[in-house]
Amino acid sequence: MKVVTTRAELRAARAGLDGSVGFVPTMGYLHDGHLALVAAARERCSAVVASIFVNPTQFGPTEDLAAYPRDLDRDLARLEAAGVDLVWTPAVEDVYPPGFATYVDVEGLTGVLEGASRPGHFRGVATVVTILLSLVRPQMMFVGRKDLQQSVVLRRLAADLGLADEVVVCPTVREPDGLALSSRNAYLDPEHRRAALVVSTALRAARAAYRDGERDAVTLRRIMHDVLAAEPRAEVDYVSLADPDTLVELDGEVTRAAASLAVRVGVPRLIDNSLLHDPDPELDRPMSTA
Ligand code: AMP
Repeated sequence: MKVVTTRAELRAARAGLDGSVGFVPTMGYLHDGHLALVAAARERCSAVVASIFVNPTQFGPTEDLAAYPRDLDRDLARLEAAGVDLVWTPAVEDVYPPGFATYVDVEGLTGVLEGASRPGHFRGVATVVTILLSLVRPQMMFVGRKDLQQSVVLRRLAADLGLADEVVVCPTVREPDGLALSSRNAYLDPEHRRAALVVSTALRAARAAYRDGERDAVTLRRIMHDVLAAEPRAEVDYVSLADPDTLVELDGEVTRAAASLAVRVGVPRLIDNSLLHDPDPELDRPMSTA
């Protein structure tokens, strides 16, 4: 596995990769969710490139940029064991050269949900991913469903700018009890780790209601709200039931519906989602409470 830092090193190493390239962008502190993206890329492509970059432009002024968990040595060992060919670990100035002035906005999809709660977040995400894709030039990019809105935004971006033939969205990997894996789970103390379970429990409740025939958007949202309200340590940011492609909030009778939640539990703000109309085996299996 080759590890490179500068744009020039990346260009040289990329030129040495034959066949189709799959790209997995990450902010590091890797867990099994990230490694599932690598495994999917290995299955579909001849070579896999990963990046580790905590992107300052997608963090708001009051967010956790400085505190974001980092462990480069451990990340590189995990990527090597997973069979990655090339890792790009740029410094901030490798991504944003001096005088940097070019930003990318994906319109329409970014004003709601995470975009509404985190102004500027998707401008930062779209800008960094445009730079990463322009330099890595993969055929496919692999992202997680865990960040549903991000996956919708990045599909739009890659198609609009012609920066990858395909954006593959991989299922959310969870702890045995249902909590979605996230680098930010590192901020949970044991008491809040227990409380954090309410997030996936609320999604499971909405899935169960939908499975039993409930189709009213207001009722499905209320079911999730009620589960979250029973956990005093959970501070709800939003509960959404939206069209999975346009992310527009649904009203009345629903058929295809993305349930999304953002909830602060102690220190971290956790996000999670489920497509109610699709199978979601990780959420529908009986949960272990061990
Ligand atoms: P991050 O390092 O948090 O920026 O995430 C990098 C990529 O990993 C993004 O495409 C995420 O959607 C994806 N990802 C994060 N957590 C999970 C998870 N639990 N399951 C699957 N993919 C994930």
